[in-house]
Amino acid sequence: SKAKLFDEKTDVKTSFKDVAGLEGAKEEVQEIVDFLKTPDKYTSLGGKIPKGALLVGPPGTGKTLLARAVAGEAKVPFYSLSGSDFVEMFVGVGASRVRDLFKQAKEKAPAIIFIDEIDAIGRARGKNNFSGSNDERENTLNQLLTEMDGFGTNSNVIVIAATNRADVLDKALMRAGRFDRQIYVDLPDVRERKEIFEVHLRPIKTDESLDLDFFAKQTPGFSGADIANVCNEAALIAARNEHKFVAKQDFLDAVDRIVGGLEKKNKIIT
Ligand code: ATP
Repeated sequence: SKAKLFDEKTDVKTSFKDVAGLEGAKEEVQEIVDFLKTPDKYTSLGGKIPKGALLVGPPGTGKTLLARAVAGEAKVPFYSLSGSDFVEMFVGVGASRVRDLFKQAKEKAPAIIFIDEIDAIGRARGKNNFSGSNDERENTLNQLLTEMDGFGTNSNVIVIAATNRADVLDKALMRAGRFDRQIYVDLPDVRERKEIFEVHLRPIKTDESLDLDFFAKQTPGFSGADIANVCNEAALIAARNEHKFVAKQDFLDAVDRIVGGLEKKNKIIT
């Protein structure tokens, strides 16, 4: 079977309501939604709509979620691929894949292209040649730069990329007319963690009296992805114990389990 070149999603249901906290980042990407919805309003005085934005922040903080919400809010198709997929590519495929992706998005414009883990292809050229496939990676990166420079200022395709390693990126990516906007997506503070719990408790049958301030205080350092995990794990623990509702203790057990997992993960890294 033929490997999928990229992912296309035309009826995106994700909205800003699904993204808890991240007020500053949401405000910044709201602008992208407006550009996609009413481009003429912005170009009427001679201005050029930006082509790219870079979401920067630790893993699991909602970068992919936010990018998908932009497409959902603007009601435009969402084309996505992950930089790490390129690592496994056959020689010569990376650049053509990028070319096909942009061609397809332009045909369906207005559209969003999302490139997750852009650092896998966008590392500074001529460095970190650990995989032995650096030429291939550079070809892919060069093709990406060519595509971004090539599309007209009013093609109405906006590229959103995500990374947790902005420091290793090739500076050419950040040049004017490319990813010249950087948006920070940080780990949630205690108030934001409470909001993330609220979002992820929506589908879960809970005991009415849950104190979300308490849960938020119990989870310092947790990302949005970790909290989503806690909520899901708590529901499974409660079900296994044949509870009618997911109760406070189920959440605490889930937090313990997730903390255990995080500690293990950190041990492997160090
Ligand atoms: P990575 O860098 O690992 O790709 P990411 O920043 O792209 O991570 P997402 O994939 O968007 O993170 O987040 C994973 C999941 O965690 C989301 O699908 C969502 O369920 C949950 N999540 C993360 N952040 C938030 C948030 N701010 N509000 C609600 N849910 C969140």
